[in-house]
Formats: sequence, structure tokens, C-alpha cells
Amino acid sequence: MKHILSLLEYDYDSLEPYIDRQTMEIHHKKHHQAYIDNFNKAVENYPELKNKDIREILSNLNKVPEDIRLSVKNHGGGYFNHSFFWKILKKDIEPKGEIKEAIERQFGSLEEFQDKFKKLALSHFGSGWVWLILDKGKLSLLSTPNQDSPISDGKIPLLTLDIWEHAYYLKYQNKRADYIDAFFHVIDWSNVNKNYQEAIK
Ligand code: MN
Repeated sequence: MKHILSLLEYDYDSLEPYIDRQTMEIHHKKHHQAYIDNFNKAVENYPELKNKDIREILSNLNKVPEDIRLSVKNHGGGYFNHSFFWKILKKDIEPKGEIKEAIERQFGSLEEFQDKFKKLALSHFGSGWVWLILDKGKLSLLSTPNQDSPISDGKIPLLTLDIWEHAYYLKYQNKRADYIDAFFHVIDWSNVNKNYQEAIK
């Protein structure tokens, strides 16, 4: 099995005006595709990795042969992180279910959660990702540099935001804060809730 780019489950323009069609299309067809292509190149001579799920591979990075480990971490990370990101995007979905209750318990309110998330996303230097994760049964926020993924540290991602400039520069230029505010309108809380229910099983 060659690892391939999955189609989005929605149209490129369906997150407008918060995330624009052109950004979505380039991000998916060019950036995400490039991570997958480079990941495939990295594992070309390793049949056991060609047939393994990317989540499984990144969760056990130490088992990846050392000569390709950094490539797998970077390109495989870009492959997995984007696949995960697309699945938690949808416009105008209200927070609901157990994840909503857990956020209110842990952060006080949804507003305080968003506030902390935004501060973290703004203070992260350079490219990377901001994550809501489940770690030892507790919700927690963290940011990772480059294409590092929290699954490589045994943490379970529930939602994420891509804060590489390619994710927002066409529409928001240097205004990362506006991009983060827009993101709060396109979180698919239904799928985030599913991720949470899966994680607490
Ligand atoms: Mn990206």
C-alpha cells in the first residue's frame, strides 16, 4: 500500500469566509500532498512501513530505522497532522456533548478555553501546531514545533490548529490572531466530541 492523500469530506469553499477556498485548496492539494510524497520516498525501501498506518508509525517513532527517523517524523508528521486537522473542521457547529462538559470542568468555560488556546497559538514561535489533547485522563493544551505530533509522546489529540504561515497567509497575512479567531467558527465539535469519547474509553 502506498500512502495516499484522502479527499476532503467537504468542498474547499465550505469554510468561507473563515478559511478561504484558495488556501484550503493549496493547503490540501499541494502542501499535504507534498508531505505524503516525501513520506513515501522516505519509506520506499522499508516494506514494513509502507503497509503500516501512519498513526501507528508515529506512535512508535523509536521503532523506525534511525537513518529515516527524522524524515518520517517531519513528513509523516505533516501527513498525519493535516489528515487529523481536516477532520475537525466544519462551519457553525456548536460545542456539545461530553467534550463541552469536560472543557467547562477543566477550563472554567468555553471562552476561557478559547482565550488560553489563542494565547498559546500567538506565543508559539515559528511554525507548528496547537493541540487540545488528553493526557493521563486530563484535557490539556500544548503546541508542537514543525510537524511534530503529540501522538509520538503518547498523547491523544482531540483537536488541532495548523499555525504554519501557509495555513493562513493568503487571507490573513501576518495577522495570526484573526486567523485563530476565525478558527473558532469552524471547529467540528461533533467530531472533536467523537475523538474525546474514543480517547476516554
Ligand atoms: Mn499545513
